[in-house]
Amino acid sequence: MRIGNLSGRLTLFSEQGAVDVEKASGGRFGADPQGVYQDWTEFLDWARGADLSAAQSFDVAALGAPAPAPAQLFGIGLNYSDHAAESKLGIPDSFPPVFTKFRSAISGPISTVNLPPGGHTDWEVELVVIIGRRAEKVSAEDAWGHVAGLTVGQDLSERIRQTAGPAAQFSVGKSFPGFAPMGPWLVTPDEFADPDDLELGCAIDGETVQHARTSQLIFPVPQVIAGLSAVMPLFPGDVIFTGTPAGVGLGRTPQRWLQPGDELVSYVTGIGELRQTFA
Ligand code: ZN
Repeated sequence: MRIGNLSGRLTLFSEQGAVDVEKASGGRFGADPQGVYQDWTEFLDWARGADLSAAQSFDVAALGAPAPAPAQLFGIGLNYSDHAAESKLGIPDSFPPVFTKFRSAISGPISTVNLPPGGHTDWEVELVVIIGRRAEKVSAEDAWGHVAGLTVGQDLSERIRQTAGPAAQFSVGKSFPGFAPMGPWLVTPDEFADPDDLELGCAIDGETVQHARTSQLIFPVPQVIAGLSAVMPLFPGDVIFTGTPAGVGLGRTPQRWLQPGDELVSYVTGIGELRQTFA
């Protein structure tokens, strides 16, 4: 099932197009794309039997983030060993580094991002998890049962700000406006033969710069949820960026940064793609 945000309204997507949830459910479920996670189980029960015959074509430019205002947005660092190596940082043993992307950075899947002047802005394609059921001290075994679905994310990162000063500033360097595009929609985990082995990648003006599989994650999705929820509860609608594989600009020789006019296309196979243009 594909569920998302079209012009700020909760929407179901089928092969035939888009169905507005508030209208199709006769008002039983509201239009707020973030509010639906509070009633996720009831919503899925309804959506599985919903009449989608009124599906209409839609403009992809009107898609918003499937979780546009999460209570918490977690970023996971150094979760692929080849990316940890290119970053010249150690491989985490018991749990990876955690930071936040402040929610003002969230955007929909198609956007223009203003590059911070004088910065070194880098790309990081990531699988993104959206929580559907409160998770507190859950085991890895039970973790997928707390996931509403998966989407594509770009953890855009301004490296000068991220690394300046006596202690790294991951959360600030990764939270400029538009630095957390997500979409094009949420796909429920049951849509995948193996949700722990998904192909992802990104390309700049058609040149592939990252390409990997989520089976390479050092801490797979269940371990990330178990580890985070051991410390703090995860709320319905919370978002987790699960980490990026090798191929970022920071790890290249010479290093490479996004430039005005670049078009960055990011994808997870089976979910869809993001398209960012830089100005
Ligand atoms: Zn990242």
